[in-house]
Amino acid sequence: MKNNKFVHLLPSFIFLCGIFITLFIGLLSKKWLEENESLRFKTASEQIITLVKQRLQENIQLIQSAVSFMEASENVTRDEWQTFILTQGLIDKFQGIQGVGYAQFVTEENKNILIEQMKNEGFKNFNIFPDQQTKDAFVSIFIEPFTTENMRILGFNMASESIRRNTIEKAFSTKEPALSSKIELVQEKDFDEKAGFAIFAPLFDENSQPKGVIFAGIKVKKLFENVLGARYIKIDFEIYDTQDMNKKTKLYDSNPKLQNTRLNGYKKVSFHGNEWTFYFKSNIGLDIGNINKIIPLLSVFIGFLITLFFSLWVRSLLNTRQEAYKIIKEKTKQIEHSEMQIRSIFQAMQEGIIVQNADGEIIECNLAAQEILKANMEDIIGKTSDDPKWQAIYEDGAHFPPEKRPAKMVFQTKQAQENVIMGIIREDGTKVWVMVNAQPIFDDTFTNVNSVVITFNDITDFRASKKELEQYVALVDANVIISSTDLEGTITEVSEAFCRISGYTKEELIGKNHNIVRHEEMPDSLYKELWEVISEDKSWHGEMKNRRKDGSDYWVDAVISPRYNEDGDKIGYIAIRQDITDKKYIEELSVTDRLTGIYNRLKLDEFFEHQLSFVKRHNEPFSIIIADIDKFKAVNDNFGHQVGDEVLKEFSTLIKANLREEDVFGRWGGEEFLILLPATSLGGAKVLAEKLRKLIEENNFSHVGHKTSSFGVASYQSLDDAKTMVARADAALYKAKSNGRNLVMTQED
Ligand code: GH3
Ligand code: MG
Ligand code: MG
Repeated sequence: MKNNKFVHLLPSFIFLCGIFITLFIGLLSKKWLEENESLRFKTASEQIITLVKQRLQENIQLIQSAVSFMEASENVTRDEWQTFILTQGLIDKFQGIQGVGYAQFVTEENKNILIEQMKNEGFKNFNIFPDQQTKDAFVSIFIEPFTTENMRILGFNMASESIRRNTIEKAFSTKEPALSSKIELVQEKDFDEKAGFAIFAPLFDENSQPKGVIFAGIKVKKLFENVLGARYIKIDFEIYDTQDMNKKTKLYDSNPKLQNTRLNGYKKVSFHGNEWTFYFKSNIGLDIGNINKIIPLLSVFIGFLITLFFSLWVRSLLNTRQEAYKIIKEKTKQIEHSEMQIRSIFQAMQEGIIVQNADGEIIECNLAAQEILKANMEDIIGKTSDDPKWQAIYEDGAHFPPEKRPAKMVFQTKQAQENVIMGIIREDGTKVWVMVNAQPIFDDTFTNVNSVVITFNDITDFRASKKELEQYVALVDANVIISSTDLEGTITEVSEAFCRISGYTKEELIGKNHNIVRHEEMPDSLYKELWEVISEDKSWHGEMKNRRKDGSDYWVDAVISPRYNEDGDKIGYIAIRQDITDKKYIEELSVTDRLTGIYNRLKLDEFFEHQLSFVKRHNEPFSIIIADIDKFKAVNDNFGHQVGDEVLKEFSTLIKANLREEDVFGRWGGEEFLILLPATSLGGAKVLAEKLRKLIEENNFSHVGHKTSSFGVASYQSLDDAKTMVARADAALYKAKSNGRNLVMTQED
C-alpha cells in the first residue's frame, strides 16, 4: 500500500482532532455557562432591587397613611395616634421600622407653648433638644411604639441635624415623602444597629403652610434582613447611600464576610430623591445546579472518552487491516511457494502428465511426458492428441482411432477415463505401451469441461514381464499340482495339474473339502500331525497316498504351508505336490514279498533295527513272534507248489488282518513269518500268538482244508540285537515243533 506510512498516523490525527473539538466544545459550554450565570446574576440583582423597593414602598405607604390620618382632624390626641399606628400592625408588618412619629413645626416664639403643652400632658421633663437656636424647629412629640428607646426622641428637633433638615426641606419642596441619607439612629445603642435612614413626609395646614412632618426611623439591617429570605438566589448585596462606596456610606451588607467575589455588579437606584448604589456579590452565586456546573468538564471528559474510543477503534481497524495485508502477503507467498512446489512435483513426477485445454490443445507437459513420448516440449505444447505424428494401437495391434482416445472421450462423455492401455508409435518409429488416465477439470458451474489432465505410465517393460509371468503361471498351472484351501480345508483354488492327477474338474473340486482326495489307507495320525504343524504356522512336508475320482490311487510328495493376505492375516493353506507314484511303486517293490505282498526280509531287517534303537532309547517293551506252518512240505507234495503258494498267500492275509496298524508283519523266509510287536510285553505277545494259532487252526484253507502252525515268542532283553532276539524266538519255535506242533512257546517256556 502506497499510503501506508500516512495511514498509520490516522488514529493520532483523529485523536488530536477529537481533543481539539472536545476542548472547543468544553470552552463553548464554559462560556455558555458563564453567560448563563451572569444573566442569572443580573436577573437576581434586579429581583433584589425590586424587593428592596417593595419594602420601602410599604413603609412609605404607612407614612402616607399617617399623613392622611393627621390631615383628617385638627387636633390629634396622643391616644388617637397610638391607636392609629397600632392598628397598622406596625411591629408585625413593617420590619425595620424603629418607630413612626410626628414632629410638629414650631417657630421660636411657640417653643415654650409646646413645652408647656407637653408638660401638661404629663411629660414633666419635656424639653426641646438640642438646645440651639434654629429658625424653624420640627420637634417630635408623638412616637410609636412608645418604648423606652423611642421615648428618648421626644422633644428632639429634627431640623437641628443637617441630614434630617435637608431631607425635611426636600420633602416640603417636593411635597412627597423623602428618604434621608445614612443616619445614626438616635434611639439605638448598638453601633451595628444604628445604621439607618429616615423617611419624612410633609404635613401642611389649611393655608398650605408647613404644619409638621411624619417621620419614621428605619433600621436598615432589620429592613433588608429578610429580603433574601429563603429565596433560591444565592447572591448577597450591599447598599451604599451615595455613589461613593465606603464604610461611612454603607447602609447595609447582607453578608459582610463575603469579599472579593467571583461574580459582582453595581446598580444605582433612586428612591424618593435619594440615590442608592447597590453592590451585588456572589461566589457560588447562582443555583445553576451541580450537573450544569460540571457540564464543561463532563463534556470534555466524555469528548475525551469518545475521542479515545474512536481513535483506538480506528487504530484497531487499521491494525486489523494491517494484519489482513500481512496475512494476504504471507498467503500469497505461501501460494507462490506451493505453486512452485507443485510445479517441481509436476516436473519430477515419474508419471507423464499432459494438460489439454477445451480445444484439445496441449498446454502443459512434464519431463516424464517428454521422456515417454521422446519429444521436446516445443513438439508437444500446442499440439492436439490426435496429431498424426502419434499413431496409436490397441493391445491386439488394431488401430486406435483419435476420437476413441482418452482425452477425446473425456470431452465427449465428461467422465474420467481410467487405465486405458494404448500403444503409441512415436515419431522415431519406436513403440511405447502406456496406461492412460484422463480426468476432466470442470468450470465453476460443473457443467463444462474446461480442461483435461492426462496422466500416463510407460508400461512397455511391465507388459513384457507380465506376459512372461503369464506364461510362467500357465506353465506352473499345467505342471505343478497346487491347491489352496481356506482355514477349514475347503478348496478355493486348484491348478490344472491337480485336476489332471486327481481326475476331477476344477468345478468339482472348488468348494469341496480337501479330504475328497484322501486315501483311506492314510492313517489319522498322519493328518493329525499335519494339522498340528500347519496350525502353528509352519510348513508340513511328507508323502501321502491320494484317491482319484475313478478310485485308483496315486502318491504325492506334499509341502503344505499357511497362506496370508496383504495384512499378514492367515487365510488358509497352499499345498504344492509332486507325483511320486512311480517312485513309490519301485520302493514298494523293493520292500515287499512278491508272492504274499507283505514286507520282505530286507524291510523286516530295516524295521527291526529301527525298532531296537527306539526301544533302547525309550525303554519300552518290544516282542517278536516267529510263525512256521506245520508240515508244509506235505502241501507241496500233495497239491503241488502252486497250491502251496496259495496257502502262503491266504495265511499272510489272515494274519495281517488280525494285527494292529503299528505291528510289522513280513515273510522271514520259505513258510516262516516274523511279526514285530512294538510296545508289547512277552505276555501280550503270547496272547496274540495264541489268538493267531487258533485263527489258523480254525481256518479252512482253499484246496487244502485245515492247517496248523507253530509259534515262537521272544521279548527284548537288554543288550539284545536282532540276531539274539530271533535266536530265542527260533529256540521257542523249535520247542513248539518238538512238543507236537500247533503250539505257542516263549523264550521262558
Ligand atoms: P515242519 O515245519 O512241520 O517241521 O515240517 P515241514 O514240512 O514244514 O518242514 P520244512 O519247514 O523243513 O519244510 C519247508 C518246505 O516248504 C520246504 C519247501 O519245499 C517248502 N517251500 C519253501 N518255500 C516255498 C515256496 O515258496 N512255495 C512252495 N510251494 N513251497 C515252499
Ligand atoms: Mg514248516
Ligand atoms: Mg519251515
